[in-house]
Amino acid sequence: QTIGAALGATAARHPDREALVDRAGGIRWTWAELAAEVDTLARALVAAGLETGDRVGIWAPNCAEWTLVQFATAKVGAILVTINPAYRTHELTFVLRQAGIRMLVTAASFKTSDYVAMVEQARGDTPDLEQVYVIGQESWTDLLERADQVSPERLTMVHNALECHEPINIQYTSGTTGFPKGATLSHHNILNNGYLVGELCRYTEADRICIPVPFYHCFGMVMGNLAAVTHGACMVIPAPGFDPAATLAAVAQERCTSLYGVPTMFIAEWALPDFATYDLSSVRTGIMAGSPCPASMMRRLIEAGIEEVTIAYGMTETSPVSTQNRTDDTFEQKVETVGSVHPHLEVKVVDPATGETLPRNTPGEFCTKGYSVMLGYWEEPERTAEVLVDGWMHTGDIAVMDDDGFVQITGRIKDMVIRGGENVYPREVEEFLYEHPDVQDVQVIGVPDERYGEELCAWVVLREGAEPLTAEAVREFCTGRLAHYKIPRYVQVVEEFPMTVTGKVRKVEMREKTVAELG
Ligand code: ATP
Ligand code: MG
Repeated sequence: QTIGAALGATAARHPDREALVDRAGGIRWTWAELAAEVDTLARALVAAGLETGDRVGIWAPNCAEWTLVQFATAKVGAILVTINPAYRTHELTFVLRQAGIRMLVTAASFKTSDYVAMVEQARGDTPDLEQVYVIGQESWTDLLERADQVSPERLTMVHNALECHEPINIQYTSGTTGFPKGATLSHHNILNNGYLVGELCRYTEADRICIPVPFYHCFGMVMGNLAAVTHGACMVIPAPGFDPAATLAAVAQERCTSLYGVPTMFIAEWALPDFATYDLSSVRTGIMAGSPCPASMMRRLIEAGIEEVTIAYGMTETSPVSTQNRTDDTFEQKVETVGSVHPHLEVKVVDPATGETLPRNTPGEFCTKGYSVMLGYWEEPERTAEVLVDGWMHTGDIAVMDDDGFVQITGRIKDMVIRGGENVYPREVEEFLYEHPDVQDVQVIGVPDERYGEELCAWVVLREGAEPLTAEAVREFCTGRLAHYKIPRYVQVVEEFPMTVTGKVRKVEMREKTVAELG
C-alpha cells in the first residue's frame, strides 16, 4: 500500500472527523478536508513539472502545510527530503546538493531563522534547485492555483503507477554522534512502521495525538503522522517549535489522548511551575523515545494517570521503531525496558568485535532485520555497507535482552566509557544521579584522563531553588552505593545541555567543552 492510498481510505471511512489541528496556524481540517487539500497540492506539484523520483525538500518547523507536503509528495511519488529547521546555510547547502533537490518548500521565518534569506544565500551553490515555495507567501498561493491545470484523473493515474517499495523519503539522522546521514526509506518501510506503532498504542479514530516532536524527524512524521493516518486518529500540533507550556495547554484544551516526547521534553513539561494547573486527565497513552528514558520520568507519567504510556526504541534507519512496550506490560517492564520486539521484525544481540550472536542477558550490539530496514544511505554505498550486513542493520547501540524478550538499551557503543579498564555505561550512573533530590536532569560523559584512560564527568541541571552542587557533594552521595569507578570525578552545573533539534543531548559537544575547560 502507498501513503496516498492510506490517506484515501481513512478519508473515506471518517470524512467528518477531525484529522489535523495546527494551533499556532489556526487550522482545523477534517479527513475529507485534509485529503482534498493534499490532492490540490499534489495536482499543483504535477503542474509545476514534478515527476516521480524527483527530490522535494521541506525546511520548516511543524505546521499544517508540512503535513500537506508530506502527503502530497507521497501521492505523486516524489522523494521528500526532510530538512532540520535548525540548519543554517552551510548544512542546507550540503543537503540540497547531496540529495539533488529540485523543489524546496520552506517557511518565511521562525524565531531567529530567516529561511528565505538563507535559501537565497545557498542558491548559488545548488544547481539542481529550480523552484522555491514559501508557505503562506505569494509563491505558495501561486503554486496552489496551478492545481487547475492537472485533472483529478491525471493525478489518480500518476498515483496508481507508484510502487510501494520505491523510495519516498530521505530522512536525515539526528546528528547526535557526527554528521547526519540520509536514510532512504520506502512507502512500505514507513507506512507499516507507523501503522504498527499505532497498533501498539491501540489507536482508533477516537484518539488525538499531541505531537510536539519535530516533523522533520521520524518521531513526528512516522510515529505521529503515519500512525494517525493509518488509524484515523487526529494529529494535534501544539506549536511550531517545542514549547512545554504550549504542549500541555494543547493537551488540556484539545483533550488529547496521547502525548509524545523525547525524555527531555517530558522533564521540561513536568518541571513547569504551573504544571498542576493543566488538566491531563484525557491522556491515556503516549510515547517516550529517542534517547535513554529515565525510569523516574516514566514512573511520574504512569503516576500522573497515563497508564498506557509506552517507551519506543528505534532509529531513523529502521523507519524507526524496533521495540516498544505493549500497553499492558507490567509497571516494571514499562519503567525499566524499551519493551519487546515489534511485530514482523527479527533481532539479535552480537559481540561487536566478532559479530557472533550472544546469549540472552548478555550486553552486545543490537541488530535488526525485516521490512523496516532502510533501502540505504542516499548515494553513500560505503557508509551503507558499514551498517547493513546481509540485511541486518547494525544499530551501534548496546542492548541486553532478558529471557522474556524485554530489551534494555544500556547506551551507544560510542558513549561507553572505559575507566581504568572497567566498562562504564553512562546510563547506569545517570539513573543513579536522578535520585539526588537537587538534580532535575543529568548526563554523564567520559573525558580523557592520563592515569585512568577516561574519567567520568556529570553535567547537572539543578531543580529550581536548589543549592549549588559541588563535585564533592556528588561523590559523597555516590560513595558506598556505586562502585568507585562509576563515581564521577567532575561535576558541571549547567542551565541546559547542548541539544539536537530532535531533543537529543549532544554528548560529543559536551565532551569537547569539558575537555577545553579542564585544559
Ligand atoms: P546520528 O546517527 O546522526 O548520530 P542519532 O543516532 O541520534 O544520530 P536517530 O536516528 O534520530 O539519530 O536516533 C536513533 C538513536 O537514538 C538510536 O540509535 C539510540 O541510540 C537512540 N534511542 C532511540 N530511542 C531510544 C530509547 N528508547 N532508549 C535509548 N536510546 C534510544
Ligand atoms: Mg544513529
